[in-house]
Amino acid sequence: MRAINHALTGTVIGLVVKEPAIAIPVALVSHWICDAIPHYGSGISEKYAMESKNFERLLYVDTVLCFLLVVVLAVLRPDHWVLAAFCAFVAASPDFLSFNRWRLMRQGLKSKLTSYGQFAKGIQWFERPIGGIVEIAWAIAAILLITPFIQ
Ligand SMILES: [Zn+2]
Repeated sequence: MRAINHALTGTVIGLVVKEPAIAIPVALVSHWICDAIPHYGSGISEKYAMESKNFERLLYVDTVLCFLLVVVLAVLRPDHWVLAAFCAFVAASPDFLSFNRWRLMRQGLKSKLTSYGQFAKGIQWFERPIGGIVEIAWAIAAILLITPFIQ
């Protein structure tokens, strides 16, 4: 899934669970559960997708949205907002492991898939443009779950 959806999921977990010792590991595991749900993918081969302008653009949009999410939490300060922001980061963080591979591929260099990379790729069995609908629905559902906490 997109980083913002991982972050929104982590936020929900932090706000609902409230207990760091449980919320943090659950947020981490949520990453792979979310990735196993059908989600957006460009539909083109990884090599071309990673080099594409669209990939870069979506990465910027994701980064801005994640930052905005933390700003919203910091401004509205619902109970356990620091935990929620931390869980948002934890939930999105496994994808940082792909950053080096992306960097290498963008330089036109070969990058071997690590065993974690193979695992991460394996669970994302459905990544197609149509999966964008699932991502939008997921984001709306997460925002609806978060809303009662910030009122
Ligand atoms: Zn992932």
